[in-house]
Amino acid sequence: MLYELGMHRIELPGKVPKPTAKSRLILWHENQVLMNGVDISWPFSGADIDQNPCEFVGTLNGKAYFTTTIRELPAKADTRSLRDIAFVGETAFMLCGRARAHLDWRTQHRFCSQCGQSVHQVAQEFAMECVPCRLRFYPRISPCIIVLITHGRRILLAQGEKNREQGWYSTLAGFIESGESAEQAVIREVKEEVNVDVKNIRYLNSQAWPFPNQLMLGYSAEYAGGEIIPAVGEIADAAWFDIDELPKHPPSISIAGWMIRQFRESISG
Ligand SMILES: [Zn+2]
Repeated sequence: MLYELGMHRIELPGKVPKPTAKSRLILWHENQVLMNGVDISWPFSGADIDQNPCEFVGTLNGKAYFTTTIRELPAKADTRSLRDIAFVGETAFMLCGRARAHLDWRTQHRFCSQCGQSVHQVAQEFAMECVPCRLRFYPRISPCIIVLITHGRRILLAQGEKNREQGWYSTLAGFIESGESAEQAVIREVKEEVNVDVKNIRYLNSQAWPFPNQLMLGYSAEYAGGEIIPAVGEIADAAWFDIDELPKHPPSISIAGWMIRQFRESISG
């Protein structure tokens, strides 16, 4: 994560703890987190939960966090989307992202994808297992690269087709393919999306990005040649922007915004 990691680290004991009076519960209703004032979690006891099992999320500052879904919202409920939780704080975002990933994993991995039989949870591990096949299924993580391309004081930002209406520009990103290194993915994605060649690729930072299950690996790269040609159907627009004259771009809570801010600070420096 980007700035709180040293202070707030989720611990994952080998054995799932039993809930206690100190435990906390993250409640979901249709992909929205039920807020408890400014807190994203509730006391475990007395929670109005339905028959869905609680998933263990992890332990933070000595408190075990669990999560589950509820069917009915209480009156005057305050709910937030996972994207809105990012603005609550990075620790809240990390906990809720992990909670969401585990709930989705549970509902999406109920059967073995090889033989079709039911799977069961492994006692000492976050894994589902098919006994006859001896196959284990882990919560899905999809590694992606995200890259800040620089050329002197300028950076290359692109507007995805899906961001055209909102007018957002951001750094380029894409999934890493099987058999590919992260650096190879940087070169391929940049070429595919904007037809530009890059050099001097450097790793910067990473962020779990639960929309869904992505692990963003952030890189910087320098322009090495080529004229910008946006990929048809994917990139609505792409251009070079002076670091002091940027269009609407992501805030620093996302790794894209963090990389842009870091570069601006290094330039003005
Ligand atoms: Zn099987």
